[in-house]
Amino acid sequence: MITVYDSLEELGFVEEESSYGLRMRIRFAFVDMNAILGLRPDGYYGVQFSGAFSSQRSFGEIDFSLPESVESLNLLKAYIAYYLDTPWNEMRGRPDVPQWLVEGKEYEDLLPWKKNLKDYETRDACMVERDWLKLAIKTLRTKITGFLDDELVEVHFDGEMLRFSLPSEVVPVSAGGEPWKQSYRLMVKSLRWLPKRLMRDPVCVDVIDGFLNIDRSALRLVSEADLQVWRNCRECRCQNEDVKVAQQALLNCDQVGSMVGDSHFSAGIIKCEACGQQFLSVFAELIDWDDGDDSQASLWLPVFSAEARKLLQTEGLATERLIMEMKMQRRYLVNAKSKGNEAYATWYEGPFFVPPHD
Ligand SMILES: [Zn+2]
Repeated sequence: MITVYDSLEELGFVEEESSYGLRMRIRFAFVDMNAILGLRPDGYYGVQFSGAFSSQRSFGEIDFSLPESVESLNLLKAYIAYYLDTPWNEMRGRPDVPQWLVEGKEYEDLLPWKKNLKDYETRDACMVERDWLKLAIKTLRTKITGFLDDELVEVHFDGEMLRFSLPSEVVPVSAGGEPWKQSYRLMVKSLRWLPKRLMRDPVCVDVIDGFLNIDRSALRLVSEADLQVWRNCRECRCQNEDVKVAQQALLNCDQVGSMVGDSHFSAGIIKCEACGQQFLSVFAELIDWDDGDDSQASLWLPVFSAEARKLLQTEGLATERLIMEMKMQRRYLVNAKSKGNEAYATWYEGPFFVPPHD
């Protein structure tokens, strides 16, 4: 396996500062493309490519994402070449087109959907009429507003109906095709990225390499490993309904790393030894100089490992900024004490924020 972001340098990308932090950029022929490492819109870690191409004859946007790592450098070349398909025809043969892109075209057979043609042909898939799917997506969008990001949704097609089973209800839509060999799970947060517009009619809904594809949107499925951690956590003390039990477990967690360690504001990543779940742990204190009785709060937010990795790459003010930007919306534990009052602890549901501090 190679790390996508780090390998871009070999392909001639140059790292530069931008308003979003560091990014890799490359310009050739009439293409200007950059890549940033970070959370994809669906909350999973990866490399987001964006940019534009404009020649006298064509103009378009570049917008695709790749996983954090892929099998080989040649596969990386093949991926990028695949996604630059539109400008390719015009660039073919130009001397200012990098050699690796030409090679990428030749390595096309390495792409997962070409390499495993047989797997592809026997994949779980079904076809849905656009208007029906549109309606189902609209219903799903409304229903999921009431659920937390990490609730599970099961998707199954029995040969007649494609069903999205939410924690308490089912959204069915009529579809055609062979019944699926199994059902698949994804998290509510992935469904928040259901396509807004459907380009084809009928629409193909299929499963390839850990993703549920609906038209042009790829929604990440929950892997068996993710599912195990998820199950453990629902049963583990660290997320117990009883805040006293949970807080005790959280105070006993191991420290994975620390981003900020000031006396009035600290933030770090901790890990529950029992279930492996990681938490963002934040402490904030607002000093009142008149008497020693200050307001303070400790917060613990369960995070996905990709989120933890991203947070651990920052420090100081950048950490605080990133926490706010990530708008992580799920259940978290707060232990707060305001001036003159007793401390109280509670599970809180909603967007996570850093309380004011000195
Ligand atoms: Zn735990």
